[in-house]
This record gives sequence, C-alpha cells and structure tokens, in this order.
Amino acid sequence: RRVIVCAGTGCVANGSLKVYEALRQETEARGLEVVVKLGDDCDCKGDVFVSKSGCQGFCQAGPLVTIEPEDWLYVHVKPEDVADIVEQTLIHDRPVKRLVYVDPASHEAFEQTHEIPFYKRQQRVVLAECGNIDPEDIREYIARGGYAAAKRAFKEMQPEQVCEEVLASGLRGRGGGGFPTGRKWALTLPEPGEKKFVICNGDEGDPGAFMDRSLMEGNPHRVLEGIMIAARAIGADEAYVYVRAEYPLAVQRIRKAVADAEEAGILGEDVFDSGRNMTCQVMEGAGAFVCGEETALMASIEGLRGMPRPKPPFPAQSGLWGKPTVINNVETLATVPLIIAEGSGHYRRLGTAGSPGTKTFAVTGHVANTGLIEVPFGTTLREIIFEIGGGVIDNLGQVMPDGFKAVQIGGPSGGCLIAEHLDMPLDFDSVKGIGAMVGSGGLVVMNRDTCMVKIAHFFMRFTQNESCGKCVPCREGTKQMLWLLEDIMEGRATAQTLELLEELASAVQLGSLCGLGKTAPNPVLSTLRYFRSEYEAHIVQKR
Ligand code: SF4
Repeated sequence: RRVIVCAGTGCVANGSLKVYEALRQETEARGLEVVVKLGDDCDCKGDVFVSKSGCQGFCQAGPLVTIEPEDWLYVHVKPEDVADIVEQTLIHDRPVKRLVYVDPASHEAFEQTHEIPFYKRQQRVVLAECGNIDPEDIREYIARGGYAAAKRAFKEMQPEQVCEEVLASGLRGRGGGGFPTGRKWALTLPEPGEKKFVICNGDEGDPGAFMDRSLMEGNPHRVLEGIMIAARAIGADEAYVYVRAEYPLAVQRIRKAVADAEEAGILGEDVFDSGRNMTCQVMEGAGAFVCGEETALMASIEGLRGMPRPKPPFPAQSGLWGKPTVINNVETLATVPLIIAEGSGHYRRLGTAGSPGTKTFAVTGHVANTGLIEVPFGTTLREIIFEIGGGVIDNLGQVMPDGFKAVQIGGPSGGCLIAEHLDMPLDFDSVKGIGAMVGSGGLVVMNRDTCMVKIAHFFMRFTQNESCGKCVPCREGTKQMLWLLEDIMEGRATAQTLELLEELASAVQLGSLCGLGKTAPNPVLSTLRYFRSEYEAHIVQKR
C-alpha cells in the first residue's frame, strides 16, 4: 500500500510535512515495514510506501493524503490524525470516515478521489503524475515512461519531424498569447548559426496564478523533457529555465531534476547516444513581473536590467546573446512529451478544433473548491465554477446560490467574464472574441458582494507598480488611470472622469511597447463594459 502526502506549496504551508514525518514515525512505531523510496534498487516488499508528491490540486482541502491502491483521499489532515490513519487504514484496511471529503453543498461524503466532483469533471493529462509521483526521484519518472519521448526525438526523429508533429498537434502557447508552438519552432529551426537556445519561461507572476509553479514543483522532469524535445526541434544544445525567485520550492526541484538528469546521463554529452550534447541551467528571476515578457527575460539572463525591447527582431532570429532562441512557458513544454510519445492525433482528441488539448487553471476567489485544475479546452465556465469549483461562496465561506457576479480570467492582462458567458465553451478564440484572454490560466471568481471598481483598481495598481518605465504611455498612462480610479473611489470624480479613463485606456493600449502596457487597461475596460453602473454609483454616492 502506498501513502502519498501532498508536498505542494499550499499543503506545505498548511503543515503537510509534519503529517509526513508523523506518518513515518507512527508506521515505524507500529512495526510496519516502511519503504521510504521506490526505485530500481528496491524490491518494494514493505507493508507501506510513504512518499511525498507535488501539488495534488485540491488546495482548499489540504493537507491531503492519498492512499493507494484504494484511491482514498483524506482532507485537512493534521499530525494528530496520523494514529487513526495507521490503525484503521494501514492495519485494518478501512478508510478513516472522519477524514474523507464532504461536499459543502450536498453534504455527501466521498471516499475515493476520482468520485469527488472536484476531480471527477477534470481530465488531468499534463497534471497526470503531478501529485502522484515523488518529484525528487527521477526513477519514479522513468518508471512511468519518462524521457522515452525525448529519446525518441533524439534518436528516431529529425528536427523537422519534431516540429511537424507539434505543429500537427495544434499545441498553442500556454503563457498567454496562444501562438502555435510548432510554428514557433519551425521558424527557428532554419535560422543560420551553430548556436541556438531554448528558454523555459517559469516567471509566472499573475496574481492568483500558480499553474506553472505546481508543474515545476510536482513534475519537474516532465518540464525538463519538454525542454530537451524543444532543443532537438530547433537544433539547440543549451537551455535555460528562468524561474521566479519567489518560487523557492520550484527552483529547488528543477535544480535537482537537472542535476539528477545529468547524473543519469540524460543531460550532458552524447544525449541518448545521439552524438548531440545538451546542457540546462536554472536561473532565478529578480521579482519583476515584466521579466515574464520574452525580450525582458532574455535581457535579465544576459545580466542586464529586465526591460522589453521592440520586436522585430523576434527571438527566433535574434534572441539570447543575439542567437536564435525559442521561449516557451512551463505548461507548453510539459505538454510536448505527450505529443511526441502518443502522436499529434491522439493529442487532438481533447479540446476544440482551434484550441486542441487541455488547459490548467488556478481557480481562486469566492469559490468553494479553490485549487489547480485541468480541463479540455471547450469546457464551460459553469462546469469549472459550479461543478469542479463547488459553487460561489460568500465572504464567510458559505455556498451562495445565485451569488455569481464575475470571474477575472488571465490576471492583470485579462478581463472579466460575467453570467452571460457561463455557458460559453472556453478556448483561446472564444475568450479573445469577447475582449478578454485565457492568459496563463488564472481564474479569480467574484461573488455578488464584490465591488468591481475596487477590482479594477487592484489590477491597475499591480500593473502600474510593475511597469518598467521605459515608455511614456505605460509609465505615465497607468499612473493617470490609477489616479482616476482613486478619484472615483474617493468621491472626487465627475461624469467626465469615466470618459477620460476610457480615452487614457485606449492611448495606453495603442502606445505601449510591450504586452504589459498594451493589456494593462483590460481589467478597467471590461469592468466598465459590464459594470458601468457601479462606477456611476460611486460617483453619485460620494457626492
Ligand atoms: Fe515597460 Fe510598460 Fe513600456 Fe512594457 S509597456 S516597456 S512595461 S513601460
């Protein structure tokens, strides 16, 4: 039997490492033979295998403990619950009823993970092993077929074939833009020069987003394998993983993954006996949101101040140190091994024609079940918020029927969606069609008591703080917009204030150099579009 303790950041913050230690001690004290590590040098004949995993997704209910093979899930586990788990589950083979999940709306109890509505409605493909394997043990990844896709790409496929397969899969960049990944690679492959680079963008900075962090923490080898395949596709022999310094666990696990892959001979010289070399370095960001923008990110790696520059030239032609470079985000790269292993046709079975595959979302805010989820593109917001998310809650955490007001999608670059969008199938194009963007996948749910002017002010303050100051429309425009929002909130606004706000928003969108500035007005514009009366009420009320 296997006991898996979630050691993602959310569960660790709630004390899961103490639960892990208590489990180790209690199993030993009760005379159970404990297998601590599963691997090729272990015959695994112990009574119990206690292990840690990355994020299991259901952050709201953490710390989580999963029991296999029964698939029992224990929620909100504390060290003092461990004696019962050992006695009832590990010795007497029955679930601890008081630790299973009880749905707050229906009050129904669920013993098995796959029966819980939060998991039942998901299709965890990229996250399949995240929360299941020990992210710090390369042998577990390899035992589940890990690195077979990279080996295939290096030994059996030409770079053109790798690009074609990814292009045929329809994979689109998960960092926000949705640009076809295969096309990006195919544009970089023919660029002249011996030296090319792959960069994995792990500088996830949107408020409310933690998809990439969870992937790096929960399955770092999958990300690394995607990087290797990208390198093979464009003919690069050097890669960088750029991770936010605020993600220390992700940095540690990616670093360990790289070191273990080097030790196993997967990275280094003559990769998979292909005659090709491959190195990978991990670099910590310095806390600037703008460094998620690809040209700023490259400047930061080069040791310069992280500021965007105009494009063209695009990174495909002149990227890191002037060399052709491909930059993909974490989730995009973690998806690639699946496509190479199972084929593009298999990958396209999920999702929509224009947005194949699945998307991870970080669901937060006024929703019963916050956490990390993965659903096929084409899933509706209603399914995400009410079936997986368990519905909208009030400020005390009670389920609030008819309490839905809006959801902010795509963080500070995105916009809000409202009740009329609840049944719209979500994909890159449908969301763009209504003036928002999927972005990297943050979904912040808001109940009917939420002030949308405050929400707009929150995101505008965030982007204004993060503006690098290089160009005037963004540097000054976001500041002016923020002041206007403060005027509205503090009773100094007039009817003309809203017109001025819209005029400024349009100038900032048109005149800014990079995506941060161009998208900064989106939260203001979308809240103005759907909740103008709230802005007007602020103006009237405060007079
Ligand atoms: Fe910097 Fe803003 Fe200009 Fe981007 S748009 S370069 S963040 S000032």
